[in-house]
Amino acid sequence: ETFFTPGDPNRFETTFADVGGMDELKEEIRLKIIYPLQYPDLYKAYGRRTGGGILIYGPPGCGKTLVLRAVAGEVPCNYLSVGLHEIFDPYFGSTERNLHQIFETARANAPCVLVFDDLDSLAQDRRNVRESQLRNLVNQFLHELDGLRENQRVLVIGATNQPWALDPAFRRPGRFDQAIFVQPPDALARTQIISLLAKDKPISNLDVPTLVDATGGFSGADLKWVFDRAAELALSAAIHTGQPVPITMELLLNVARSHAPTMNSW
Ligand code: ATP
Repeated sequence: ETFFTPGDPNRFETTFADVGGMDELKEEIRLKIIYPLQYPDLYKAYGRRTGGGILIYGPPGCGKTLVLRAVAGEVPCNYLSVGLHEIFDPYFGSTERNLHQIFETARANAPCVLVFDDLDSLAQDRRNVRESQLRNLVNQFLHELDGLRENQRVLVIGATNQPWALDPAFRRPGRFDQAIFVQPPDALARTQIISLLAKDKPISNLDVPTLVDATGGFSGADLKWVFDRAAELALSAAIHTGQPVPITMELLLNVARSHAPTMNSW
């Protein structure tokens, strides 16, 4: 569980600028929690409330966790992030009470963003958790979301890799009614991610468009792997030759070509 007030010195410094692509999601988050705090009169005039629910879904490695961290660096209000796996308690009723407490904390600290990075934990195939327990937790979660319907100024963001395993009741109006697909980065998003990954690294003759072309289907995590692996190989050469060896474009391309993107089965 992570809780930050706006001025917290430990607050994540990651911001939306560190996340390639996801323009739609970034704007949705601004619309639901950042702009309302900046333009309260406009929101009043248009009859729009602060907060609500956003569901983020998509294959692993495309930056869901990263963008949720960036929300902490971006929003000018309290931030509470909770792993559902942390609140599971075998004692009857405790898990629901824990969840209620979390929503209470968010409400008491409104305006607040409440983040659940692992809604997958609500899927039916969980080991060690009885189906009835899971059902109770799902019901409690739905109940808590309904309780936020009036203008309680809490934005709940949930992320999952398995949207099909989530009870469709979560998608009803007033709950996670905004669902955003975080997909493998397109060419423009890969351009941004590659530029971010290349920053502060000893890379010679970097040619972003060529690298973008060579990495179709790669997730952000795959791109990061290419840069990490190329850096490791150049570093190894530097150690063995005793002189600085830059990360060359050829090396990056070779590493990229030898790498099979990881998400094809999603
Ligand atoms: P999982 O569902 O497995 O948690 P995820 O979608 O949350 O996957 P992340 O863990 O956020 O993916 O991504 C892994 C790493 O890949 C990030 O820490 C980051 O370094 C890099 N990465 C992924 N997507 C992006 C992106 N859009 N912009 C910049 N970096 C990215």
